[in-house]
Amino acid sequence: MINCPYCDHQIRDQAVKAHTGLRRCSACELIFRGENNTAEKLLNSYRHHYFAKHASDQLDGRRENIHQHALAKLSSGQIGQLLDVGTGCGFFLVAARRRGWDVKGIDPSKDSIKLGQLLNGVDIFEGTLADYDGDSHFDAVTFINVLGHIKEPWKAVEKAALLLKKGGQIYIRFPNARFHVFLHEVFTKFHLFEWIPRYLVFHDFSFSHRYMKRLLADNGFHDIQISNSPISNTLRRGNGNNLTCSRLGTVSLYSLAVILQRISLHRIYIGSSLEAIAVK
Ligand SMILES: [Zn+2]
Repeated sequence: MINCPYCDHQIRDQAVKAHTGLRRCSACELIFRGENNTAEKLLNSYRHHYFAKHASDQLDGRRENIHQHALAKLSSGQIGQLLDVGTGCGFFLVAARRRGWDVKGIDPSKDSIKLGQLLNGVDIFEGTLADYDGDSHFDAVTFINVLGHIKEPWKAVEKAALLLKKGGQIYIRFPNARFHVFLHEVFTKFHLFEWIPRYLVFHDFSFSHRYMKRLLADNGFHDIQISNSPISNTLRRGNGNNLTCSRLGTVSLYSLAVILQRISLHRIYIGSSLEAIAVK
């Protein structure tokens, strides 16, 4: 029998029928991989392989709209020192610096850091958030599509709380676990578009809006807001009608998600990505 690594509840459910390794906790809604990925194995993959496989995601500018959106959200608080966890080549840091933030990043990938320093001239600590030894002087700590890749994400949120000044803000963007589970089940059950489930996102950990709210509250954060988050700009991946259609589709889905979120008084979230912002 497996227990939930967050709340210790006994796990009986698979998260998704087709993925035997993915488990879902019925108590806290955390989704996690049942098999043991050792911390060292996971970290080595980010240190040595992540850049080669995924650098294009950072270099073609498709995340620019997401970065600007996150910074607009953070502008309601004090603009001062910002720490971005899993910053890669530091493109978010560059966008933040333009808006007046004093920026620092953390990333385990030497190649990402090297390119980040060369292209962007940003200060990036090589390692993990657990390795980073600093005092509580940050006004903002950000995790953009990163938390689900971290070995024990709840410890990262706890560390972020330690590094933030009182009144500082945490910002987390993450795939909406319920959206990805739902689509996976529907497409698999009806054998529709068999290539689609491969594009649904399940990292080592996946979070629902309820789990994220609880995680932040458990770590002493207040004024917690969960919202649908805009989708990255796929048009940046190249040219063509398919991409224009795909962009129109994702923008329409986001708009519908925002409308439903408002009508349901923040109880229904159907977007593919969510964001959480909260105050220490
Ligand atoms: Zn749990």
